[in-house]
Amino acid sequence: MNIILLGPPGAGKGTQAKRLESSRGMKQISTGDMLRAEVKAETKIGLQAKDLMAKGQFVPDPIMVQMIENRIAQPDCARGFILDGFPRTESQAVALDSMLKEQGLNIDAVILLDVAEDALVQRLAERRGDDGSRRADDDPEVVRSRLEVYRAQTAPILPYYEKNGRLKRIDGMQDVGCVGSAIDALLDAKQA
Ligand code: AMP
Repeated sequence: MNIILLGPPGAGKGTQAKRLESSRGMKQISTGDMLRAEVKAETKIGLQAKDLMAKGQFVPDPIMVQMIENRIAQPDCARGFILDGFPRTESQAVALDSMLKEQGLNIDAVILLDVAEDALVQRLAERRGDDGSRRADDDPEVVRSRLEVYRAQTAPILPYYEKNGRLKRIDGMQDVGCVGSAIDALLDAKQA
């Protein structure tokens, strides 16, 4: 089963993707994590992405589409994958559909974690990694631009998935466990 988790920064996509990875053996594909690894390793992509990410802006679509195409082709995605942070623009959504079609794959569920925007700045200000570290782009100033970019570029892809009945909304303001149960119920219904 292949799914997309959509939602603004701080909606809980990463948390839920990690949970699904351990409970269902699906592979989390986080484009944010992949890019942070590229930045750390100072690769060509990392060097291109670094400043954009620091400002909360998007890395160009062709780079992202290529990155996902390569990642999905890896054997560890064969049991299913969870896209976390991709697609983020309509052009990425369209490119994803055509690359999946070419590979005979499809997306079983597109799940939007719906969260009130004013809760997000607070959530991200408090967010810590497993090692207690903070992401530089969780700084409230950068969060505001990330939310603006989400509103301008990512929210407009919701109608794209809504139009053919693919989009399912889950209330992301519930506690983590309830959000997880809601996702499970949705995926179980799909599998049944
Ligand atoms: P995330 O960890 O998903 O919040 O992503 C962190 C940052 O990586 C974003 O603010 C963007 O700068 C960049 N990024 C991640 N995924 C994408 C994507 N699909 N398209 C463009 N930029 C992305």
